[in-house]
Amino acid sequence: MPLYRDEAVVLRTHKLGEADRIITLLTRQHGLVRAVARGVRRTSSRWGARLEPFTHVDLQLAEGRSLDTITQAETVTPFAQKVGEDYDRYTAGTVMLETAERLVAEEKEPAVQQFLLLAGALRALVAGREGSDPAQVLDSYLLRALSVAGYAPCFDGCARCGLEGPHRWFNPGMGGVLCATCRVPGSSSPAAETVTLLSALLTGDWATVAASEPRARREASGVVGAYLAWHLERGLRSMAYVER
Ligand SMILES: [Zn+2]
Repeated sequence: MPLYRDEAVVLRTHKLGEADRIITLLTRQHGLVRAVARGVRRTSSRWGARLEPFTHVDLQLAEGRSLDTITQAETVTPFAQKVGEDYDRYTAGTVMLETAERLVAEEKEPAVQQFLLLAGALRALVAGREGSDPAQVLDSYLLRALSVAGYAPCFDGCARCGLEGPHRWFNPGMGGVLCATCRVPGSSSPAAETVTLLSALLTGDWATVAASEPRARREASGVVGAYLAWHLERGLRSMAYVER
């Protein structure tokens, strides 16, 4: 069986037979990969915690006809432990993993930008970004991951006619903010500070994020959640656990 190496973030695991697991990975070079880890559920397993969700691992895999098999795993960054220390971090991180899997739907289609974005967001989540909490790290990740997937939201110019903003109407189905002429029924009207914050979360302007008020943060999280839900067919299970 041909072997290959790659690095990956573990997204999810599920049981296979008596002692094995199927590990869902977002790899750097091979996109989404589902691979078997043999004996991982035995107490004497040589894998330890290396194949737990959130862990950034360096892997060797053997190609199989349906599923590949993990033959070696070395921890690059043990995000799992740090993420698990704090409930808000954990719930935000869980949404990230689920979103990554949903946005990179095709297996073995390279998705290097999604991999880098996820690894970077987990690093920021664990380190704690000055002046922001897990919710802002999550919202920024979601906006960027959606953008990489081809659903970039517009928070400056009108999403329909391009008229320069700021604009006060927002509609997820229209792709962002709308001017008074283009506004459609069912649009929400977030506060001006909220739209500024959303734009900062998308571009990674962390100074503006750090200066934002709790009210704008809450409203921005609501807008991001609505935008994400619009672009994923079903809502995310894990989103229900994030404090909004
Ligand atoms: Zn317009």
